[in-house]
Amino acid sequence: MNPISDLPNIAALGAIDRAHLIHPVSAWRTHEQRGPTVLSSGRGAWLTDGEGRELLDGFAGLWCVNVGYGQESVVQAAAEQMRQLPYATGYFHYSSEPAIRLAEKLVQITPASLTRVYLTLGGSEAVDAAVRFIVQYYNAIGKPAKKHFIALERGYHGSSSTGAGLTALPAFHRGFDLPLPTQHYIPSPNPYRHAEGATNPQAVIDASVAALRAKVAELGADSVAAFFCEPIQGSGGVIVPPKGWLKAMREAARELDILFVVDEVITGFGRTGPMFACEAEGVEPDLMTMAKGLTSGYVPMGATMLSEKVYAGIADGAPPGVSVGHGATYSAHPVGAAVALEVLRLYQEGGVLAQGQRGALHFAAGLDALRSHPLVGDARHRGLLGALELVSDKASKAGFDPALGLADRIAAAAYRNGVVFRAFADNILGFAPALIFSEGEFVELFARVK
Ligand code: PLP
Repeated sequence: MNPISDLPNIAALGAIDRAHLIHPVSAWRTHEQRGPTVLSSGRGAWLTDGEGRELLDGFAGLWCVNVGYGQESVVQAAAEQMRQLPYATGYFHYSSEPAIRLAEKLVQITPASLTRVYLTLGGSEAVDAAVRFIVQYYNAIGKPAKKHFIALERGYHGSSSTGAGLTALPAFHRGFDLPLPTQHYIPSPNPYRHAEGATNPQAVIDASVAALRAKVAELGADSVAAFFCEPIQGSGGVIVPPKGWLKAMREAARELDILFVVDEVITGFGRTGPMFACEAEGVEPDLMTMAKGLTSGYVPMGATMLSEKVYAGIADGAPPGVSVGHGATYSAHPVGAAVALEVLRLYQEGGVLAQGQRGALHFAAGLDALRSHPLVGDARHRGLLGALELVSDKASKAGFDPALGLADRIAAAAYRNGVVFRAFADNILGFAPALIFSEGEFVELFARVK
């Protein structure tokens, strides 16, 4: 395929895009002026755009293409499933072999507490299902007052109508009448911005646990349903808490008698080293959400996993024979499930997970080396998830005026220099390369970033 002849007239395509296509998370009028960046093909860790420019993708699409572009076996799995049975509803009592096998596989590879799988079309829908199942659960077990949800400041849990309220980023609330009165936040566990973060990681953990306890006390223990968190906050600027934080929060949630929901949409599937971030700390959540690396972005799919306790509460709470009214036409889509099964095979038998763990050493070395750069205040990472936080003064950690749009300008310059990563608020540059990055590609990435 020749990407250039495939897109014979980028300007014409751009004009149509500007006139008709609404882009997720974009400034609509700005986009009409600016026009799209059209991508046309991908291979391994590399993208080609509509103008024929080669780009090293340091962000795995949107932290999802963990196995890299152009994995032929994934294409084959999708094509074979489409040929055999492109669609089978999961409604009522229908099922399909890929969905069944995927559910079994996910139960095998996630923490032992999780025994039940609801397959969605992505992360937002997985979070939305989790919230609805939690509400259903407490009503079913006779604790209808437990309706309040606590999440982290700067957290991201997608953009469904309730999930966007658990997301704590201003653009997702502004004009949407969010957060709901039942949605609350506690500060992020951010070592760089904590007074003792550099010398005493336990202080960061203790502050977080104390904040959760205080918030539950403020709302009333009997009225709090759940605590939602990402093991490492992604869209909030790749905030890497100290090791042990997730476990401490899990224990606190148990003592406070609230459900502990881990959103592994980004951190799952080898992004932080092990298959799931929970694994590294032996954490067994009550619910888990996942997406992205599940299919490596090749087709849309996510999942919400439940513990037996939550599942049984809902299952036994409904009157016999009465449906739990939650579902979508494309829930448990067989093509998504077939792709997920092949992607999971690549992580395990295909060695991609192990490759990512080896690559993480080069990734860490590349980011750590940039710590001495005059603009870099903090370089942080776990596995293949990392960020550089830019400051105007390393001693005071003062940032740059947001009006400068520094991170966006750096990301735009990097694009022209053939490398893609992501700019976040507060002058943060985020990196999430595919697990198949070679040593040479890491060298290339950080040389260009520098
Ligand atoms: N949860 C987390 C932690 C995410 O990072 C995202 C997306 O970036 C979502 C949920 C929403 O997933 P999706 O974009 O697939 O709807």
